[in-house]
Order: sequence, then C-alpha cells, then structure tokens
Amino acid sequence: MTAQRLDGRKLAKKIEHDLAPKVATLASKIGRPPRLVVVLVGDVAASASYVKSKAAAAKRVGITADVFSIPESTTTAELVSTVEAIGRDEHGPVDGILVQLPLPDHVDARAVLDAVPPDRDVDGFHAVNAGLLSQGRAHFIPCTAAGVQRMLLDAGVETRGKHAVIVGRSDIVGKPLALLLASRGPGGDATVSVCHSHTSNLKEVTQQADILIAAVGIPQLITADMVKPGAVVVDVGINRVLDGNTSRLVGDVDYDPVSTIAEAISPVPGGVGPLTVAILLENTFSAAKERQNLSQTAE
Ligand code: NAD
Repeated sequence: MTAQRLDGRKLAKKIEHDLAPKVATLASKIGRPPRLVVVLVGDVAASASYVKSKAAAAKRVGITADVFSIPESTTTAELVSTVEAIGRDEHGPVDGILVQLPLPDHVDARAVLDAVPPDRDVDGFHAVNAGLLSQGRAHFIPCTAAGVQRMLLDAGVETRGKHAVIVGRSDIVGKPLALLLASRGPGGDATVSVCHSHTSNLKEVTQQADILIAAVGIPQLITADMVKPGAVVVDVGINRVLDGNTSRLVGDVDYDPVSTIAEAISPVPGGVGPLTVAILLENTFSAAKERQNLSQTAE
C-alpha cells in the first residue's frame, strides 16, 4: 500500500485563492488593505525565513505585512511596550499582530504574547484565546493546529469516534490540537491521547492511533513499527538535518517506510507548513473584518 499524500501546498493555494477576493472586497470597504504586523526579534535564520514566507503569502492575497525587526538585545519590558504600542495603532492601523517565536532566552515570551490585544492575536497564543478554545468557543485558533484539522477535513478523514494520538504537548501545537480534535463537530469528536517527553510507552500508544500527529522536533522519531497499518499520519515537525555538505528539511516521521503502511501521510516540506501560513492569512482577514463590523456598529 502506498499512502495518499496529504498535500498542504495544494490546499494552501486553494485557501489563498478563495481568500483573495474576500480581502479585496474588505479592502475597498475599509479604504486600505488588511494589515498584519510581524514582530521579529534577533536574527535567527529559520525565523527570518518563516517571516519572509508569511509576508510573501500575505502579499499574494492582498494583505499588507510589515515586519518590525527588533535587536536580539531587547528586554522583556521593551518588547512588551513595543507590542502594546503596535496594538494601540501607534504605528498605523493594525488588524493582526504576530510575534515570531522563539524569542531569545532572556525574554519572557508569555509576557510578550500577553501584550498582544486578544482581538488582533492572529496566532491565537494569548491566554484569552487559549481559554476560549478550551471552552469550545474558539475565536483565533493557533494556525498550525487549525491547519492540521483543516488538512484532515479537506482529505475527508473521519475524526469522529477515532483515536487520535498527538505526540507533543506544546502550547502552540500539541495542546490546541488536542482541544480541537476532542471538540464537538466536524473535524472533532475524536478520542485524544497526548504523548510527550515523559510518556514511557510511546510506541504502545502510537500503535493504537487511527490518526497519528507528530509535533515534537526530533527527526524521524516516528518509525514504521510505531504506526498502525492504515493509520492517517500528520507530520508537523520541521527539522533541518545535514546531508553531506548540504542541509535539508525533514519531519518527525520516517516518511518512506511509514508511507508504505499508512493510509495517508503529510510530507515535510509541503505538508502542514504551508497550511500554517494560509490559516494565518485567514485569521488576519477575520480580525480585519471584525474590526470593520465593530466600527460600523459604533457609527
Ligand atoms: P516544543 O519543543 O515546544 O514541544 C515539543 C514537544 O515534544 C514537547 O511537548 C515534548 O514533551 C515533546 N517531546 C520531546 N521529546 C519527546 C520524545 N522523545 N517523545 C515524545 N515527546 C517528546 O515544539 P513545538 O513548538 O510544538 O514544535 C514541534 C515541532 O513542530 C518542531 O519541529 C517545530 O519546528 C515544528 N513546528 C512546525 C510548524 C509548521 O508550521 N509546520 C509550526 C510549529 C512548529
């Protein structure tokens, strides 16, 4: 059996294609394109490259993306006040604000993320948005978690009553994804297990998964013997590994052997990554639309 390839690039293109005319209509109503501000701290090459692809995707659908580059030496207090100033529109009207992670070790990332106004928190990392998601009344959903769910829905993968095993419990991927898959309705209603670095019998748990999602950051952690034949496997991991003199991206799943037993599998690159960006654009559009609705109500 060769697994169906869950093509995130293709789906992201479709999402962009559907979004662009909506963005144009909104832009003509509000007299400017929706605007995303990305705060990039320091010069980590991977972060700079993610920000570049987010800005390019925004441009493709007609969203303005401005990158605020902040030196690595910034303090938590300085960064919080910068984000607060952006949130008060002191640098022009802003619909969505994203703080690119990771932040330098000396910065309190929580404090910075909490400085993003929840109604412009297009990454969905603010405590208010995390709380709303956990209560089943999600507003902004973290983009990668939403992207995984969208990928499953688009591929017609039934989640209801299925055992979904997520490896990784981070606030930005594993936890929100567990909440989404366990929530009521389409793309949800699954029985969810969350594994992490202290799970003692990882293989025993992953072997039970109808849907297996790896979000760890360890190249090829998930090998074929850990996967139930016929399972759907989604690989969130992005790891740069050396291949001779060059480097290449691999996921957390040992792709080739796993694809011979899985029913469907997402590749890296070209899987969840492009969807993360596409959902960010949707979230930014929603934020701009909500702002427009609010200003109309106030008139
Ligand atoms: P993280 O470091 O915050 O969390 C990793 C999780 O893996 C932790 O919960 C930890 O308990 C768990 N873990 C570590 N070692 C383990 C082991 N041996 N067995 C089981 N669990 C283990 O990482 P993150 O931010 O959630 O990102 C995870 C991966 O996903 C990374 O490779 C990251 O680059 C990638 N990522 C991709 C996208 C995308 O758009 N595709 C977005 C975000 C993150």
